[in-house]
Amino acid sequence: MAGTDAFIGLGSNLEEPSAQLARAVIALAALPKTELVAQSPFYRSRPVGPQDQPDFINGAVWIRTELSAIELLDELQAIEQNHGRERLQHWGPRTLDLDLLLYGMATLAEPRLSVPHPELPNRDFVLQPLLDLAPDLTLPDGAPIAELRARCPDNRLRRLDPIPRDPI
Ligand code: ATP
Ligand code: CA
Ligand code: CA
Repeated sequence: MAGTDAFIGLGSNLEEPSAQLARAVIALAALPKTELVAQSPFYRSRPVGPQDQPDFINGAVWIRTELSAIELLDELQAIEQNHGRERLQHWGPRTLDLDLLLYGMATLAEPRLSVPHPELPNRDFVLQPLLDLAPDLTLPDGAPIAELRARCPDNRLRRLDPIPRDPI
């Protein structure tokens, strides 16, 4: 498929976070004019902002899409709503957060949409899954993700083991 390579960051810390993320990956793969390229492992991380909330589960997916960046943001917000997200507290607990991390090599600064996601260089729970997906990835300004990951503050990231198969 022709289209733009985009990376979406996923996060949840309410109502079975791993299941929220797994369902979100299925919803992303089903978006119009979009195909799923790859999905990262999931990680557990300490919350950003208010600390009196559960740990987050985070991951990232790589998609290829013919949607525009704003159309994609609309779709991400619709998936968040379908997951029962309520906006209660800034950086507070949520059932599902979908951030558009990168949209090709585009740089956008619109009221509804900043790309690359402005906090990307500061968050190991975003950089590590991106690194898993695409070790040679760079930002539009040329900064290698691998270098940003090495310099980023430590948020006690822990990779979740793959779900073990039932013994035969
Ligand atoms: P953070 O952006 O620091 O991760 P958050 O994810 O908690 O915080 P939200 O409440 O989910 O923030 O989003 C607030 C607004 O951010 C959204 O309504 C959206 O319009 C805007 N926004 C700007 N750039 C982006 C982006 N790259 N991806 C997703 N939303 C974005
Ligand atoms: Ca976010
Ligand atoms: Ca968000």
